[in-house]
Amino acid sequence: MNDLLSLEATLTLPSPCQPFAPEWPGSSNVNLWVKRDDAIHSVISGNKWRKLQHTLKAFSHSQIVSFGGAYSNHLHALGFACRELDIPLTALVRGHESATPSPMLQDLVKWGVDIEFVDRKTYQQRNTESYLAQLERRFDSALIIPEGGSEASAIYGIQEMVREVNSTVDFDTIMAPVASGATLSGIVSALTPKQSAIGIGVLKGEGYLENLVEQFLPLSDCAHSMKTNPTQNWNINHSYHFGGYAKVTPELREFCDTFNRTMPFHIEPVYSGKLFWALKDMLSKGAFKQGANIVVVHTGGLQGAR
Ligand SMILES: *Cc1c(COP(=O)(O)O)cnc(C)c1O
Repeated sequence: MNDLLSLEATLTLPSPCQPFAPEWPGSSNVNLWVKRDDAIHSVISGNKWRKLQHTLKAFSHSQIVSFGGAYSNHLHALGFACRELDIPLTALVRGHESATPSPMLQDLVKWGVDIEFVDRKTYQQRNTESYLAQLERRFDSALIIPEGGSEASAIYGIQEMVREVNSTVDFDTIMAPVASGATLSGIVSALTPKQSAIGIGVLKGEGYLENLVEQFLPLSDCAHSMKTNPTQNWNINHSYHFGGYAKVTPELREFCDTFNRTMPFHIEPVYSGKLFWALKDMLSKGAFKQGANIVVVHTGGLQGAR
């Protein structure tokens, strides 16, 4: 517990919420801010800290088991936190051991994380009851955290982020990238009735991503799809996934490079690059009300760009 306090003392919280004024077509019609969750910590990346925070606070098991790919921001944040908190961590990593491990995996090794490679077929079972029961038998008294840290308690940490924003900016619209949907769920569940959220899908998942978001929403039995509930105050834009998760085009790479040379903070192509590209494109198409106050959530993840 004391370890957790000293870890928290190294985090920049509340994270800054800064005005953002790019010289992009259409940007002068609205007011923009960026919620800099990427600034929380150099390793414990943005929304991954938000999602893990309550789990780590309540931690009373003997060890943790969790999942991710070889570039996972979640495993990276969790691996660092577990080293700081002296919690044994087993990372079940999708795929096969490679002769050239990713920088993320190299960090995990350095931090004393036990890495086990899991073939794709087994990895697909990561949320099934029988596989989880099997893991529980094997890793006695372990806390098993789902991929991405996306579990019900993750929502609370994200809600806290929205409360921080609300205490500094009176916003109409808030934007964030969507992969597992937990972050957007947390945001939506913390909005006031006049506010709305736009998720930018970073993978091909029309319909699928909406279901994920609804599944995490508190009162999910009241949630309906857009068609049946026109008053729903959120939606996911699927025009900016660039072909799929972690898929990058030369144009997107160029956009990120230019952005990183000219803007006061950095982005990477998997999450924040697609988010800010979407923002730029939507501004140029007049997608927002004149004078709208828009907050863009920078969810971190810069380690993944290495
Ligand atoms: C994991 C991650 C996301 C996706 O968040 P979800 O809650 O899974 O939708 C977005 N941005 C960054 C930087 C991430 O690491």
